[in-house]
Amino acid sequence: MTAVELPGAVRERVRSAERVVVFSGAGVSRESGLDTFRGAGGLWERMRPEELATPEAFRADPEKVWQWYAWRYQRVAEASPNPAHQAIARLEAVFPFIIVVTQNVDSLHRRVGSRNLLELHGSLARAFCNRCGRSRDMGEAIAESPGAPPICTCGGKFRPGVVWFGESLPEETFEQACEAAASCELFLSAGTSATVYPAAGLIELAHRAGACLIEINPEPTPFSGLMDLRLAAPAGEALPALADAMERCRWPTT
Ligand code: NAD
Repeated sequence: MTAVELPGAVRERVRSAERVVVFSGAGVSRESGLDTFRGAGGLWERMRPEELATPEAFRADPEKVWQWYAWRYQRVAEASPNPAHQAIARLEAVFPFIIVVTQNVDSLHRRVGSRNLLELHGSLARAFCNRCGRSRDMGEAIAESPGAPPICTCGGKFRPGVVWFGESLPEETFEQACEAAASCELFLSAGTSATVYPAAGLIELAHRAGACLIEINPEPTPFSGLMDLRLAAPAGEALPALADAMERCRWPTT
């Protein structure tokens, strides 16, 4: 994708927007070499979520779940942010208030310098004890015990610091995300299948608030019909082109 031409109505909304939300999903990290869960070639094509990313799975087979997360941790440690993460971080200079709400657990937005960041599904960077809640560095926990969850001093087991299917999102983080979505003028949904709730409900909140909605995803989602603009291209190509178009729109003399 070489350039993005913003349609007139979208251009007006971009020009006047004060509050912006970028809602990101696994597709944004696809070009960093990290698999998505859904979509072509996603992790779930090869593995069943109920076997790995649930509290029940951890109780039934903690070694298997721990080893899967140790493998994912290693993949993330070897990955680098891609042009999509960089473009999102660049937008911080373009709008007065921008917040990145991510479903990703890979810390790539943080590593590229996005400062106003809400990690809705936690982070692979931390582990915590399933009994006393003590938190520690995930890399150290894996180095100490690569094949099975390390045991805490209280006797509990350390688990990855991510939100599993069937668990609640961190309350305060989700409230902040809802407030941001319900009060923004521009909402970018990038690389998410928009099927995992309650996170996907943020798109509905922004729509009800009258925000201008832009979707970046090669495949359609259940919300594609609501979008004011849809870029059906990989995030690593579409987001830099979109950020360029937004800069031209906000800073017409540059
Ligand atoms: P998802 O796997 O459900 O959907 C990924 C979406 O990305 C699909 O709609 C697909 O069409 C799109 N996509 C694929 N390649 C793309 C690209 N190059 N550019 C733009 N879009 C692309 O992901 P989700 O909606 O984030 O699902 C949520 C769950 O997945 C979360 O719980 C999250 O924690 C977890 N997850 C996170 C990571 C990560 O941190 N990198 C990786 C896999 C899954």
